[in-house]
Amino acid sequence: MALRLYAATTSDGKLRDFRAAWQAHSISIEPLPALRTIPPPLEDGTTFQANATLKAIYYSHFAPGEQVLADDSGLEVDALHGEPGVRSARFAADIGLVDSPDANDNTDVWNNMVLLQRMAGIPSAQRGARYRCVLVVARDGEPLHTAEGAVDGIILDAPRGTGGFGYDPLFYLAELGQTMAELSPETKLALSHRGRALRALLPMLEPVS
Ligand code: IMP
Repeated sequence: MALRLYAATTSDGKLRDFRAAWQAHSISIEPLPALRTIPPPLEDGTTFQANATLKAIYYSHFAPGEQVLADDSGLEVDALHGEPGVRSARFAADIGLVDSPDANDNTDVWNNMVLLQRMAGIPSAQRGARYRCVLVVARDGEPLHTAEGAVDGIILDAPRGTGGFGYDPLFYLAELGQTMAELSPETKLALSHRGRALRALLPMLEPVS
């Protein structure tokens, strides 16, 4: 029996992760139709849970009767007292370095630069961080399911690798000796916050014929 979800994200990186989940679990995760023409909601929640919920509810109104999946995720750095957190996509924008975050521009480069600057001089033992992801599925304005995932890592002082997106070139997994940007999509999905959240979500979903 197939599972179909519409993903409410324009992030190519998130969609890649979702597609890898589709390959592994026979789940059809398609971008919400005409998503780029829908004005995005204001993500003014102070938690990943709040933002994922408001996005899932909002976008579900544009696909009546369908299960719509929203992801809110980000990086929490111990030495920065949990920053950038829910502001991860806008770390550089918040200090005026870029106008507006957009998956197709250089926002990730600027965000990584700000992270490196903020971490300058912090010793390796104090460079712990984690990615967090909250997934919410909603239908017709009602949240149906929520799942979370997290993964611990260390912030490097220089980028490594060309895969992934966002902060992945700086996010080092000590047990693998690699950054998230050096992993295959399959390995990233097996270990990542998003992969863990997706696996927690899967048993909750309703098959469609
Ligand atoms: P959102 O679209 O508001 O959830 O923003 C998520 C932001 O967190 C992204 O723009 C990235 O900066 C960061 N982020 C979330 N998940 C990942 C990941 O898997 N790799 C790298 N960065 C991530």
